[in-house]
Amino acid sequence: MINNSPWGILTGIRPVKIAAKLINEGKTDEETVKYFMDTYNASEKKARLALRIAKTEKPFADNLYENGVSLYIGIPFCPSRCLYCSFVTNGAGKNSKLMEPYIKCLKKEIKYVSEILKSNQNVIETVYIGGGTPTTLSASLLNELLEGLYTEFDLSRIKEFTVEAGRPDTIDEEKLNVIRSFGIDRISINPQSMNDEILKIAGRPHTAQDIREAVKLARKCGFKFINMDVIAGLPGETLEMFKNTISEVEKLSPENTTVHTMSIKRSSRLNENLEKYTLTDDETTGNMVEFAAEYMDKCGKHPYYLYRQKNMLGNLENVGYAKDGFDSLYNIYIMEEIQTIISLGSGGVTKTVDKETDRIERIFNVKEPKDYIERLDEMLKRKDVLRGLKL
Ligand code: SF4
Repeated sequence: MINNSPWGILTGIRPVKIAAKLINEGKTDEETVKYFMDTYNASEKKARLALRIAKTEKPFADNLYENGVSLYIGIPFCPSRCLYCSFVTNGAGKNSKLMEPYIKCLKKEIKYVSEILKSNQNVIETVYIGGGTPTTLSASLLNELLEGLYTEFDLSRIKEFTVEAGRPDTIDEEKLNVIRSFGIDRISINPQSMNDEILKIAGRPHTAQDIREAVKLARKCGFKFINMDVIAGLPGETLEMFKNTISEVEKLSPENTTVHTMSIKRSSRLNENLEKYTLTDDETTGNMVEFAAEYMDKCGKHPYYLYRQKNMLGNLENVGYAKDGFDSLYNIYIMEEIQTIISLGSGGVTKTVDKETDRIERIFNVKEPKDYIERLDEMLKRKDVLRGLKL
């Protein structure tokens, strides 16, 4: 069987889940690697990567709370839309008048779900506020949202609370202080590239310097855990430029670096105008991913979670790297589907995981914030299936 793809014929987005299953069945390292190579024609390197990450994740997977759940809160607003993004919202300009009613509705969903979780005696293990870009909200709306979460849910046993700040053009000291005032010290600030001309092509209205300043500000405000996302294979970015991105990011010493591979999303502006852009070839993208892996190793970071998406350049993967002791639990739980994650807000997909049968059920919220506001009662009713659920 000839297949030059690094993952062979493996099409799933969760290779680590396969490795974890084999480990739990008692397979040795060599048997697991051989399984990937024989079954999927995956390269030995990728097979060993999946195995290494599965072994890193195992202690976390083995130490979940009994009856624990995690929460995802979706904030579907961004100040503008990046070139490669297929996210539903089209920029805060058009949607800013929806923010206030959206937060009001979200608080109702928070209250509704909190009552269900209390009667189920669920313990909340991690919370992740993502989007979109949650810091697109004003400081007062952020405060209202966080207050709602802390009032309604018992968050006394949470192991981790993360707020995605994403774009530096949404970050200011007032918002960071609001987040910190709730004791939250994990944040994500995402450069994607540290080359200004590439940021411009990618439709990101900020510079590399803005990123440096946002990270500095976050440190000053007391954030102890910063994740930074980069993308290998952005249109126009050469290998040399990507190397610059990685070294500039690591100069800022983030506790986590997530290296994504460019994926061409169907409804992105990039896909709609493909002829206007120079895409990175598969080999160069592979070299970028390789370079990042080696660089992270030199910086003392280990790969701790991995997933794949459709239409990725070079059929590669996204990998999160962490300094020791800074692995993000939420990312592990969601990617390996080892815990029920309840998603609130528009676009949220709740996944309930029955640990005994491994059965996964999904509850969908509508995608558009406008529909979410109009159909809130229906979204609440959909959550009724969580009542009495044994997790
Ligand atoms: S910041 Fe993220 S969610 Fe928002 S438009 Fe850009 S890629 Fe999409």
